[in-house]
Amino acid sequence: MGMSYNFSMSYEGKAKIMKDGPSEGTMIMYFKDDVTAGNGKKKAVIEGKGKINKAITLKLLKLVEENAIPTHLIEDIDDRSILVKKLKIFPLEVVVRNKATGSIVRRLGLEKGLEFERPLFEIFYKNDDLHDPLICQEHAFMLELIYPDDLLIVRNRALRANEILKEYFTSIGFDLIDIKFEFGVDEEENIYLADEISPDTMRLWAKGTTESFDKDVFREDKADLLSTYLEVAKRMGLKIEGF
Ligand code: 5GP
Repeated sequence: MGMSYNFSMSYEGKAKIMKDGPSEGTMIMYFKDDVTAGNGKKKAVIEGKGKINKAITLKLLKLVEENAIPTHLIEDIDDRSILVKKLKIFPLEVVVRNKATGSIVRRLGLEKGLEFERPLFEIFYKNDDLHDPLICQEHAFMLELIYPDDLLIVRNRALRANEILKEYFTSIGFDLIDIKFEFGVDEEENIYLADEISPDTMRLWAKGTTESFDKDVFREDKADLLSTYLEVAKRMGLKIEGF
């Protein structure tokens, strides 16, 4: 196969800015206050959101790292930034689902809240023009998005990271419903869990209910995003300066 993964360059995304770090092979991940939904159709700036998601991401990356999942985290920088490894990111959104909601409910007509006997692993092709379609593994190989051996490793680690995070959130009163991960490789083709892990990238419901504590409150205008995210941070034992 002629595939070669590309290193991610500095760029400004919807919720974050990635720029080159102080030393070779590092990048700074800066968390913005912007929030978007529906592929950028719904937008807002919510002061303080970046700080909250940075603190949540830092703690959760440390948690999975402590549980033997290699992540891109190098160290904390300041209240909005962390230092991470520069990676070639697979153009995939890796989703693990514990209960049905969101796109799987629309796609398969499942009842919202249906609990899966085993967590479901899905891959989406990261492509704005195509609106990040759900794809099969064979599509990923044909499009040369990832090698089969790498996808096996990604799958195992995503399922394991989901287990770790699910157990943690249960302990602080939330059900982890689903979560989106991104993975990448370094110069030596070692695989790392990358990106943020925050209420922007997962769904949390108050334990035993369907009450959202994640970006769905913004997507569906159900509650105030800032106080919702602050509640998650608080239950995680995090103190956010200025709040
Ligand atoms: P769904 O496929 O049901 O829309 O999303 C499944 C999970 O992946 C949810 O936790 C959702 O927040 C996350 N997710 C899916 N696509 C994206 C995306 O483009 N950006 C972010 N931040 N999260 C996503």
